[in-house]
Amino acid sequence: MSARHHPADAVLADYAAGTLRPGFDIVVAAHVESCERCRRHVRLFEKAAGAMMSDLPPAEMSADALPLMLARLERNPPAASADAPIAPPRDTRSLIERLPVKRRRWLAPGVWVQPIDVPQLPGDKLYFLRVAAGIRGLHHGHSGPEFTAVVSGALRDGKTTYRAGDFIECDTEVVHRPKVLAQDGGCLCIAASEGSLKGQGFLGELIRTIAGV
Ligand SMILES: [Zn+2]
Repeated sequence: MSARHHPADAVLADYAAGTLRPGFDIVVAAHVESCERCRRHVRLFEKAAGAMMSDLPPAEMSADALPLMLARLERNPPAASADAPIAPPRDTRSLIERLPVKRRRWLAPGVWVQPIDVPQLPGDKLYFLRVAAGIRGLHHGHSGPEFTAVVSGALRDGKTTYRAGDFIECDTEVVHRPKVLAQDGGCLCIAASEGSLKGQGFLGELIRTIAGV
């Protein structure tokens, strides 16, 4: 089933340009990997940026240009030529499966969080959150933006249902209490946040103190 909730085009343009914060870039990458529509949009943004770059005079490369270029090459590997050396077999696991993770921490029966072990900007968090079917999540707000991609299962937030592959963007205006739907089993999400969750109630406090998100 294809995703019904996608990143805004402004987010996809920043993703194509490689200017998203590192954790947020990974959550968008997880969505884009499974979404043909967003892969098409990203290709268009990359083409448009390439056309604009070719019109500019040469400039000195910034210090982070090389890591960004390597990340881009990993996303879009160049086609191999006939006389190229034989490359080692490509890792065919999805991005989600390849991410290095830290120890899983149980926050409550049926709820665990697992930080993802990649470099972050100070104060940013990137983690998997798994909530068992039927559990209503913590009532919480956000001190900064938060990107979430649903990996499996489904959750309902207000009147909107998000299923595997869907992308959710929250800002500091949003205070909500998502609920994992019982009929789809548990829900696994990958989320990036800037700043802390402003948890309300028991589970909110627990997540903030134990998991540091
Ligand atoms: Zn999409």
